[in-house]
Amino acid sequence: MNPNQTVEDESQPSNSTVARRIQRLSLHLTPLPPLQPSPQLNMLTCAKASKLEVDHGPLSSYMRGKHREIQEKIFEFFNSRPDLQTPIEISMDEHRELCMRQLMGLVREAKIKPFRYVVEDPAKYFAITEAVGSVDMSLGIKFGVQYSLWGGSVLNLGTKKHRDKYFEGIDNLDYPGCFAMTELHHGSNVQGLQTTATFDPITDEFIIDTPNDGAIKWWIGNAAVHGKFATVFARLILPTHDSKGVSDMGVHAFIVPIRDLKTHQTLPGIEIHDCGHKVGLNGVDNGALRFSSVRIPRDNLLNRFGDVSRDGKYTSSLPTINKRFAATLGELVGGRVGLAYASVGVLKISVTIAVRYSLLRQQFGPPKQPEVYILDYQSHQHKLMPMLASTYAFHFATQYLVEKYSEMKKTHDEQLVGDVHALSAGLKSYVTSYTAKSLSACREACGGHGYAAVNQFGSLRNDHDIFQTFEGDNTVLLQQVAGDLLKQYKDKFQGGPLSVTWNYLRESMNTYLSQPNPVTARWESTDHLRDPKFQLDAFRYRTSRLLQSVAARLRKHSKTLGSFGAWNRCLNHLLTLAESHIESVILAKFIDAVQNCPDARSRAALKLVCDLYALDRIWKDIGTYRNVDYVAPNKAKAIHKLTEYLSFQVRNIAGELIDAFDLPPYVTRAPIAMQSEAYAQYTQRVGF
Ligand SMILES: Cc1cc2nc3c(=O)[nH]c(=O)nc-3n(C[C@H](O)[C@H](O)[C@H](O)COP(=O)(O)OP(=O)(O)OC[C@H]3O[C@@H](n4cnc5c(N)ncnc54)[C@H](O)[C@@H]3O)c2cc1C
Repeated sequence: MNPNQTVEDESQPSNSTVARRIQRLSLHLTPLPPLQPSPQLNMLTCAKASKLEVDHGPLSSYMRGKHREIQEKIFEFFNSRPDLQTPIEISMDEHRELCMRQLMGLVREAKIKPFRYVVEDPAKYFAITEAVGSVDMSLGIKFGVQYSLWGGSVLNLGTKKHRDKYFEGIDNLDYPGCFAMTELHHGSNVQGLQTTATFDPITDEFIIDTPNDGAIKWWIGNAAVHGKFATVFARLILPTHDSKGVSDMGVHAFIVPIRDLKTHQTLPGIEIHDCGHKVGLNGVDNGALRFSSVRIPRDNLLNRFGDVSRDGKYTSSLPTINKRFAATLGELVGGRVGLAYASVGVLKISVTIAVRYSLLRQQFGPPKQPEVYILDYQSHQHKLMPMLASTYAFHFATQYLVEKYSEMKKTHDEQLVGDVHALSAGLKSYVTSYTAKSLSACREACGGHGYAAVNQFGSLRNDHDIFQTFEGDNTVLLQQVAGDLLKQYKDKFQGGPLSVTWNYLRESMNTYLSQPNPVTARWESTDHLRDPKFQLDAFRYRTSRLLQSVAARLRKHSKTLGSFGAWNRCLNHLLTLAESHIESVILAKFIDAVQNCPDARSRAALKLVCDLYALDRIWKDIGTYRNVDYVAPNKAKAIHKLTEYLSFQVRNIAGELIDAFDLPPYVTRAPIAMQSEAYAQYTQRVGF
């Protein structure tokens, strides 16, 4: 609006330009159009395409899992409390306070008590996390810091005495806490941490110290404002009677009170600083902690994997520092599982906003005919439909991860522990990297309106971005997956067992590594390309080759460079191997999910989406398959053509597919994803 206009002027279009713009905008204010392609493009794209019939109801109930009820309760609570909804524009301090009030409201008013589910029913716990994160991602992370990180460390690394003492206070938020692992100089390299916890046998206490500035605990969520306790990771130092005088037992976890429970004053010997304004997640108060001779009782050692007796003797059921360290970190994978799961939630939101808008927005068209919906442009389908297919694929893969994690928590089966560790590392890194890229692609797919803060992409992108780094940097985590694959590969040749997810390597080494079959390399019928066996074989063939070739390269280079140097020389190869393996797991789980779907129409829709996921991935990596003649030139062309056709078919049911996600507040707050009324309010808000 022209700022010189008077109030009276505002009710009338003041000139023809404004009138034209209003007329133009009103084109977008019609109700959400039926989900048919623009007829003219329908003909252009594929004359014979027949639309699948799919009903989002049964599909949605198949997707949802069993914990929808508690999610609904959370949404209802926040819907009924506008004072607890995060406004678009909010200062960091206000956001932090609001976030704490949201958390308090959730626990004390809505009576959602999540803590026991962390161990007893992780699937329910993750469903709560997802719902909470979709109210405000800062809230989801603050919730995760309290229950997965601070609470999870007490439950998983401590013993009964810790559970008895802290459970209730953590659950009802009387004891807000932090997880203080990262230091200024060491993030990914946790074994390099320098904070010390020295046992004093005279007073029966540990003394916590920050030996230098590089050892200041940094980025600690909940530390800057609200936390009263911290689980501090520090090197356990024991006095000895030898010439050294002390012995370093490696990194252990300790409960350290940081603020007074009543006055909230910072306790003596502790300095707390604020990490300040961040790129996103500003509802979370990240802080830095320095300890100077802070004394804590011996009981505050979280002693599940290692203990110190009254006379200063160390005991552990695990024989080496490395084994204890692995067991400690192994217990913390829950946070990683939660992030992978939550990241799929963010991807669903982002894809839903972009697809809904693309079904609403019209631009250009053939002469003298209505403009076409932007989702009918092949380029737009190419941007969004494989992404929609990937979202479905990741949904089932992370559901599988949660199932395996829950099973692991019940059985503590050693092999399962290793499997879940590698799978959670792989899926967390693969999914969060994919979602981060997709958020930008979705913003761009919504043109200029995607850039308005009210339409969510900015906050989603900024808040989600760090998912790639915390709970383990993605590049570092993928290396753990590669390392695990190589270990399995080596074990296989020594006759060892293969863990569940890796099982396919058993056959693949024999079957897939023989020369590609020149006959099947030429098969190009649609039935063959849509056969799950062909798709899975192709994924696994690629992983097996990468595994075999990188193993050979590592062997060769380690002779001259040593193992560290050889690993670095092959690092990109190793990362590709890890991603390829994770894609194989994702596809296998998607295929299972299609086959297990009880509703015929939903199954047909899922099969279509699964085929698009598989063939799009193969097409994106077609060079690899062509290089070794796994796929002949004509077959490559057929894959490309079929991928485009499937994208078009998925476009035809895109509305139902996104509705089946059944998404809560974030989407309904993005006017461009909504029906005309919300869109109209949006345009009014900016002054029309
Ligand atoms: C908002 C936020 C909240 C956080 N909350 C907490 C918290 O509550 N508690 C806590 O303890 N920590 C927390 N952290 C810290 C977080 O876990 C670390 O930032 C993370 O582990 C990465 O460590 P770093 O920052 O030291 O990165 P670095 O390890 O220094 O990594 C920097 C870069 O180097 C690369 N790199 C590192 N090592 C390798 C390698 N071996 N091979 C190849 N590339 C490599 C990485 O890929 C990355 O790109 C938080 C961080 C942020 C930003």
